[in-house]
Amino acid sequence: KNPPSPRGRVKLRITITGTPGTGKTTVSKLLAQRLELPLYELSKLIKEEKLYTSYDEKRNSYVVDTDALRRFFEEKESFIAEGMVAHYIPSDVLVILRLKPEEVKKRLKMRGYSEEKVVENVESEKLAVIATEALDSPASPKILHIDTTGRTPEEVAELILEGIKGKEIFDDVDWLEDEIFGSENPDIY
Ligand code: ADP
Repeated sequence: KNPPSPRGRVKLRITITGTPGTGKTTVSKLLAQRLELPLYELSKLIKEEKLYTSYDEKRNSYVVDTDALRRFFEEKESFIAEGMVAHYIPSDVLVILRLKPEEVKKRLKMRGYSEEKVVENVESEKLAVIATEALDSPASPKILHIDTTGRTPEEVAELILEGIKGKEIFDDVDWLEDEIFGSENPDIY
């Protein structure tokens, strides 16, 4: 039932978290190919394996059973798990993807999200909700924090590979400060 195991070369557990729209799925696919690791898309996995406690009718989403989620990955030695709850899963490397809120907004609108869901996620990125959660209770010894704004998926994947090899990758991001004091790159507004 599980994806085929890798060819026994690398033992590596990578988790990739971030606000919806930051590019988790896209970059994960690139990395899974490059590293030959099985890829778990958590939004799908949580439904398929019923790793939830209930369904939130108002928010139209499952309430994740984080203990069950952790248990699912407990015995697995090599994987990439991506999703906005990935930071609950113990791993060797946790990647936090960030993206300028204006860009999050554009991408989620394109995806056809409701206005309410767009606003909720844009605010969440602005306030660094997921990043703060991930940094406050680290489930991984190594954390890469990447500002994906203006970077291609290939460039982001390359940074992650460098991070895995040992380079420190921790971009300075403060969207609130940008909003108050102006961005260095105001053209995109
Ligand atoms: P997530 O999994 O975090 O919700 P996706 O990988 O689904 O994000 O990407 C959301 C949208 O943004 C998709 O349309 C995707 O093609 C696009 N996208 C992802 N990464 C980038 C990038 N680095 N630059 C430009 N567009 C991107």
